[in-house]
Amino acid sequence: MEEDSVASWKHHGKAKVSFHVATINKPQEEFKILVDNANKPFDHVFLERSEDGLRFIHPLEKLSVVDFVDQNLIERKPVKPLPLEETPFKIVEDVKDLKELAATLQSVEEFAVDLEHNQYRSFQGLTCLMQISTRTEDYIVDTFKLWDHIGPYLRELFKDPKKKKVMHGADRDIIWLQRDFGIYVCNLFDTGQASRVLKLERKSLEFLLKHYCGVAANKEYQNADWRIRPLPDVMTRYAREDTHYLLYIYDVMQIDLHIMAKENEQSDSPLIEVYKRSYDVCMQLYEKELLTGDSYLHVHGVQTGHLNAVQLAIIAGLCEWRDQIARADDESTGYVLPNKTLIDIAKDMPINVGQLRRLLKSKHPYIERNFDAVISVIRRAMQNAAAFEPVVQSLKDWRPGTVEKNIKPMIEKPGTEFTAYTKKRKFESELSNKLQAKEVVKVSKSKPDNVIVLDDYDDTDEQSWERGDASNRALEMPSKGSMTQVPHTSSTEIVVIEDDDESENDSESREDEDMIRRSEKHRRFMSLKRGFLNI
Ligand code: AMP
Ligand code: ZN
Ligand code: MN
Repeated sequence: MEEDSVASWKHHGKAKVSFHVATINKPQEEFKILVDNANKPFDHVFLERSEDGLRFIHPLEKLSVVDFVDQNLIERKPVKPLPLEETPFKIVEDVKDLKELAATLQSVEEFAVDLEHNQYRSFQGLTCLMQISTRTEDYIVDTFKLWDHIGPYLRELFKDPKKKKVMHGADRDIIWLQRDFGIYVCNLFDTGQASRVLKLERKSLEFLLKHYCGVAANKEYQNADWRIRPLPDVMTRYAREDTHYLLYIYDVMQIDLHIMAKENEQSDSPLIEVYKRSYDVCMQLYEKELLTGDSYLHVHGVQTGHLNAVQLAIIAGLCEWRDQIARADDESTGYVLPNKTLIDIAKDMPINVGQLRRLLKSKHPYIERNFDAVISVIRRAMQNAAAFEPVVQSLKDWRPGTVEKNIKPMIEKPGTEFTAYTKKRKFESELSNKLQAKEVVKVSKSKPDNVIVLDDYDDTDEQSWERGDASNRALEMPSKGSMTQVPHTSSTEIVVIEDDDESENDSESREDEDMIRRSEKHRRFMSLKRGFLNI
């Protein structure tokens, strides 16, 4: 693949990496990756259940963090890694390679791990690469090619409490490993958590690389379309850098933590604190996003949008419509119908195809193939609008300032069984309190493949995009025949970039020039949080 297809070079010489390369064949299809998008809870088939059958038991529950602390810490000297160029490197892409990797990992005491992921062209998200570094070698596992083999070969190694796994800001990786490979991690040292306990001024891997290794990492590719194959050299390098230095950083941090004073007499030692935090990261369990009767209320902007009953009814209807298509075609709901467009449609209340067409400011392959279906969803919703009056009222009564955060009034939704708001997954709800995002749409008609904006991203500080993703996966309720199946599409021209208002990201933005012209707040634009790509 030519470099041009993943990056275009701007006048100032910085690559703009496309988060979506529309020409890529969907790996789910090409590699026959089976995913279960049914609107049912995820089954952790590799976990035991509690006696009452109500709870999954993580293997960590039987272990103690104290056992993870290196007993010979005093004698340990940090082991510097070889330069990347001198380090043996292997792309693991067949079963034989994977078997060899497993044997190598069997023989080491610790290894570093990172994943690259895509969430725009699949419903639940898809792990695209698994990077692993030992003290002496770097590996990149092509997860597409080896999908069904990864669990069987690597599951026990990840679970082995005697083997240290070093990861940076592992919250999402932990969840992705469970979802895609049935891998559950025991004995994690999360360098992101360590940087918090050490109170470093930044928590990003980029900062740690600079601080501990003097390496200036190129974070340009963080949000690239990692489904691309063969992997371009620049992306291979980027991916390797994400794990290559981690074991060394772990060595140094461990010593720093050991000599760091306790907060107070009662508190844990800093090193134990890091293991406790890392333990909590591992204990999180993947939960599939479920559509429930009030999921539409989680679509960003709905609770604060002063929408009337008709508009809310339309939003609920369209959420249901896009959710069904997204599950069936294994696409993100944001790809099928971006939140911004969804709300624009609801506000406008088009009742025929002409009106709807005029409203769309960019290309929406899914809507365009289903104009009639969308209109009938809208019309039916409008007839149902009276049932949304109580919702309007509850939103009005809702204390200003609390809405959009931790939802919300219990609302009975017409036509569906009342579904109480079920607790969102832990990491999401933790985030939801501190995050509020704003949406900005960027449409590029001329360069469908190059609509990218990337920015520096503080790995452990800013996982807000993930929440956007989750909260946008609206609603449940099976539709009764309103939906038309749509063929897969391979082009999109829409990009929504969301601005995280509470971003602590102090890095410079690298906006698209169009964007600069369009936005007064252009400096703040850039944290392209994928969840919010849930356009
Ligand atoms: P990392 O842990 O930095 O290697 O990131 C892992 C994956 O998270 C990437 O492959 C992206 O899919 C996603 N990701 C990381 N940073 C961002 C970001 N700023 N915006 C959107 N997605 C991101
Ligand atoms: Zn990562
Ligand atoms: Mn990475």
